[in-house]
Amino acid sequence: MSYEKYMKEAIKEAKKAELKDEVPIGCVIVKDDKIIARAHNLRESKQQSIAHAEILAIEKACKKIGSWRLENCDLYVTLEPCPMCSGAILQSRISNVIYGAKDFKGGCIESCMKMYEVAGFNHYPKTISGILEDECAELLTSFFKKKRLINKQKKASS
Ligand SMILES: [Zn+2]
Repeated sequence: MSYEKYMKEAIKEAKKAELKDEVPIGCVIVKDDKIIARAHNLRESKQQSIAHAEILAIEKACKKIGSWRLENCDLYVTLEPCPMCSGAILQSRISNVIYGAKDFKGGCIESCMKMYEVAGFNHYPKTISGILEDECAELLTSFFKKKRLINKQKKASS
């Protein structure tokens, strides 16, 4: 199934983030069945609070097609988008948002709020959730587990 095919590419991006000791979240943007942008979370490397995978991918996609309008584009991301990214997706007129794991502490598609069910916007992306959900969630769980273990070891040795 193509949803899974592209989510696997987003997962590849998430793994690149993990190699840089970043929270593993990855994103790809697809147009006409082709990946036009890929990015991963770079918040720590850039020390930039807005360097989320989706924002970086949207920037690349706009540059690639030479327009701020990402109509007929699909955004795949491993984690449910936060308020900033849900907003950026809306602003860029992306047609479909496909994500893997839910983010109970920040997701704005279904978890903390349902931004795309708020009336009055001039564009509403369609959303599909739960694609390779376990794999996407496991990336994050194992990352934080490892982090906690390292912190514990640091404390124990100091
Ligand atoms: Zn975000």
